[in-house]
Amino acid sequence: MPLDKIHCSACDSSAVEAMVAVETFTYKHTNFEVEEFNYSVCKECGTEFVTPKQGKLNDQKIRDQHRIMDGLLSGRAIRGIRKKLGLTQHAAAQVFGGGANAFSKYEKCEVIQSVAMDRLLRVADSVPGVYEALYLISLKLLVAPNIQYKQTVSLCDYGECEVSDAKILPGNIIPYGVFSKKKEKQLKTSNKNLIGYG
Ligand SMILES: [Zn+2]
Repeated sequence: MPLDKIHCSACDSSAVEAMVAVETFTYKHTNFEVEEFNYSVCKECGTEFVTPKQGKLNDQKIRDQHRIMDGLLSGRAIRGIRKKLGLTQHAAAQVFGGGANAFSKYEKCEVIQSVAMDRLLRVADSVPGVYEALYLISLKLLVAPNIQYKQTVSLCDYGECEVSDAKILPGNIIPYGVFSKKKEKQLKTSNKNLIGYG
């Protein structure tokens, strides 16, 4: 982390070095370690301190450990599920809810996901068909759990699209934000019935 313009909190020297160390914390009577706890050392007077930027990074790492210890998915695990489903952060928020910036915040450990969101992500990740159903619900196309559609949907011709069938959903809909603009245009041209969403 660049530390230019950082001055020692004790002697105001600018000879400050960024350091990392293993630091032990306690959460709910259990110790845990943050392997890369960020702090600064003044080379003039030896004072150790944490800058606001380092503090923010440390807080995110500590919060991530808290949620792992609470049995919740880590930021990295959430990002992994989202990527596996082929979703941008914005598209993931549209499908799973939680607000426009929810996934950015979950993944950066700025906000801890609710238990309900955590379970939803795990189910969507591991049970076939759940993600597809959630996706249709987010589009208001699936109105009841026993798969009733508000409108007739048909399957996209996957063969012509040359993309993974997991990424094109029933209803001839291109998930918003999943593909690049160029790819979306390509898909729309190669299959006139496709409808973009978003
Ligand atoms: Zn100093």
